[in-house]
Amino acid sequence: MDIRIERTNTPKDLPGKDNPLVFGTIFTDHMFIMDYDTSKGWHDARIVPYQPISLEPSAMVFHYGQEMFEGLKAYQAEDGRVLLFRPDMNAKRTNKTCKRLCMPEIPEEDFVQAIKELVKVDKAWVPTKEGTSLYIRPFIFATSPFLGVRPSTTYKFVIILSPVGAYYPEGLDPVKIWIEDDYVRAVKGGIGEAKTGGNYVASLKAQVKAHEEGFSQVLWLDGVHRKYIEEVGAMNIFFVIDKVVVTPKLNGSILPGVTRDSVIRLCKDWGYTVEERKISIDEVYQAHKDGILEEVFGTGTAAVISPVGYLRWGKHDMQVQDGGIGNLSQKLYDSLTGIQLGKLQDTNNWTVEIE
Ligand SMILES: *Cc1c(COP(=O)(O)O)cnc(C)c1O
Repeated sequence: MDIRIERTNTPKDLPGKDNPLVFGTIFTDHMFIMDYDTSKGWHDARIVPYQPISLEPSAMVFHYGQEMFEGLKAYQAEDGRVLLFRPDMNAKRTNKTCKRLCMPEIPEEDFVQAIKELVKVDKAWVPTKEGTSLYIRPFIFATSPFLGVRPSTTYKFVIILSPVGAYYPEGLDPVKIWIEDDYVRAVKGGIGEAKTGGNYVASLKAQVKAHEEGFSQVLWLDGVHRKYIEEVGAMNIFFVIDKVVVTPKLNGSILPGVTRDSVIRLCKDWGYTVEERKISIDEVYQAHKDGILEEVFGTGTAAVISPVGYLRWGKHDMQVQDGGIGNLSQKLYDSLTGIQLGKLQDTNNWTVEIE
């Protein structure tokens, strides 16, 4: 794929060393953009100054929500290399999401190339302080000016970059989680396993409610029985019960996380029994009562590992790990970030260098 590069004449100031890099608030100097129409396919790949996008008010994305997004990070290694973490997984998931939403797929190598070239152009924006990284947000949306309901015939694929610190203000401090048993996020057969805005707008009401109650995240139960655990807002969820690592199996309504996949692999490499299966909230509550709910943590690109210190399910409150960070949570965080930062040996070949 040929990518035309137009550099900005008015570069912004880089964030200062003491800038807290609040998640998703600062954007770099450039963006990647590429167009699609049915006759030319994907074409006109370019890196241009970060700027507003002009769209017709009738553009289909505004009306029927045909759009998808991804999220991954570039890390500054101690030896000066800039590393991506498993970008091929994001490329594959993009195409799965595109298929589900009737959007055109992007060749995996083009997807990864676009990210690499853009990060290269804005390399100076990859922050160096511990716990920081350059968040990469690829997204595709429907642009045809048409109010009828059908798949769009034109699209844009855009990538923007944002230097970030911790996703949750808590950092690695345990979060408090609200178990939602009224609203639901997704159902099997719907779009729960696609990375798309529709799943997020469906989640806002419960998130606002949870925040009002002093909880930082919502844990979703299945949409049919309100009984089986699904996932947290933007993270998959893991439980350590009597030394066994348990996570809900991918059932069609859960997002298949790259971090989830990596955590399962590491735990298995370390000799843990890992069970991907249905797990009910009653089982979690019983394990807590029996004193064998050893750890709970969320996994996702943004926070990497997010220990859960407290869960509320209706009238039941559960404190986990005395509200502290569990051993496995800490070990997973150290190992994943160690690999991402090029400090630990990358035996699974997960990192990709940007040259
Ligand atoms: C992106 C996302 C995750 C985490 O996926 P990663 O690939 O690990 O970042 C989990 N749940 C939802 C709903 C998501 O959108």
